Amino acid sequence: MKTYLITGGAGFIGSNFVKFLLKTHIDIRIINIDKLTYAGNLESLKEIEDYPNYQFVQGDICDDELITKIFNENDIDYVVNFAAESHVDRSIETPMIFVETNVLGTVNLLNKAKGAWEVKNGFKPCKKFIQISTDEVYGSLGTTGYFTENSPLDPHSPYASSKAAADLMVKAYYDTYKMPVNITRCSNNYGPYQFPEKLIPLMIVRALNKHALPIYGDGQNVRDWLYVEDHCKAIETVIRNGEPGEVYNIGGNNEKTNNDIVQTILNYIHENIDQTVAENLITYVEDRKGHDRRYAIDARKIKDTLGWSPDTTFEEGIIQTIQWYIENQGWIRQVQGGSHE
Ligand code: NAD
Repeated sequence: MKTYLITGGAGFIGSNFVKFLLKTHIDIRIINIDKLTYAGNLESLKEIEDYPNYQFVQGDICDDELITKIFNENDIDYVVNFAAESHVDRSIETPMIFVETNVLGTVNLLNKAKGAWEVKNGFKPCKKFIQISTDEVYGSLGTTGYFTENSPLDPHSPYASSKAAADLMVKAYYDTYKMPVNITRCSNNYGPYQFPEKLIPLMIVRALNKHALPIYGDGQNVRDWLYVEDHCKAIETVIRNGEPGEVYNIGGNNEKTNNDIVQTILNYIHENIDQTVAENLITYVEDRKGHDRRYAIDARKIKDTLGWSPDTTFEEGIIQTIQWYIENQGWIRQVQGGSHE
């Protein structure tokens, strides 16, 4: 029986991962610690909250005493660190909280895991710390090329810089102490339970309400889109088979401009839900400060060495996602605190 300490498991990717693990494994225990910021919501975990092998703790990964207590009272095998402030726009307004949670919180977890796992000649066997990072740590690409795990770190936003700083601390725990770690760097995720401030859910929710669809700059910024369930499978593969100390890029092979994304959502809603939802909702707004032009992931390492590849095409994933938001308006209202947007 393996015990997972999952942080940030009430957020978008974390809640999908907790549910994925509990539904695919019976021989595990999960402790999910989440501060429940605006981005975390217990509503996203309703279907598994009564599982006997699942425990939720509301708390902060920066809380020294709480994390110590969790490690003292439980034999934790894996730490999977999803907890983060994750929205680039918010990081431009308030960088400090990004440093506190993303950097100091990660170091607190690393310290406590090291304290619990270190033995005389190294570390207890079969323990691992998995840091969930982002392709944004690599900076921006031109129209060609891909980020590999060896691309230099060149983050631009306070969010990306805080994630890069955390990655370097995780790397330091491997290089210095040989603590077993992996870092995963994924592209933009989409799917159910994403807080409607990020591009895809924001545009779906606004289009359904026939509100203006604001696109930054000229809308030609390119992101690679990864369906969240494929990401969950990739993380599980890395936990099981990832070589300690290694970084794994995880991508969806789906490069799209923001214009493509908004057009796809509009077309689907226009054709299937409400014909009065139309192009004239699109409005171009002043570009985000320091907006990276293109991210694209070379995920050959995880494919070739660990045998993972994404199962969901963008065409399937985006329809499932739009349908999920249409069918779960109660969840949207709940996470937005009763407002419509
Ligand atoms: P999210 O914002 O939806 O969720 C973050 C969760 O962390 C929330 O539940 C929040 O309550 C919790 N949290 C915040 N501060 C905390 C703290 N101090 N202590 C404990 N919990 C805290 O984020 P997400 O989209 O699910 O992203 C999860 C991870 O994946 C993040 O580390 C993010 O950097 C990374 N990532 C996300 C994407 C993406 O497209 N969503 C892409 C690349 C990497």
